[in-house]
Amino acid sequence: MSAVAEKLHHNRYRVDEGRPHIRLRDPDICRDDCRHRACLTICPAGAYSLDADGLVRVSTDGCLECGSCRIVCAEHDNLDWNWPRGGYGILYKFG
Ligand code: SF4
Repeated sequence: MSAVAEKLHHNRYRVDEGRPHIRLRDPDICRDDCRHRACLTICPAGAYSLDADGLVRVSTDGCLECGSCRIVCAEHDNLDWNWPRGGYGILYKFG
């Protein structure tokens, strides 16, 4: 286990079932218009992945709420990004 993965392992995450706080507005934009797809590499929680059809998928379980994906997606504004509802999301144990 990497040092980062080891530190992330200390956090807890409360999933808001059926209510992801980040959604892709249009996966076709990621596939057809985004040249860098930086979300796939910048997310420290590995929330973004490519499916078999080459479409970007997002799974917000474990999201650290760092906002990095919002910045790298600003060019296309293709993320509907919201804070989790109260009581859900990341719970940092060490600060
Ligand atoms: Fe990943 Fe940070 Fe975006 Fe959450 S806010 S999905 S941790 S890049």
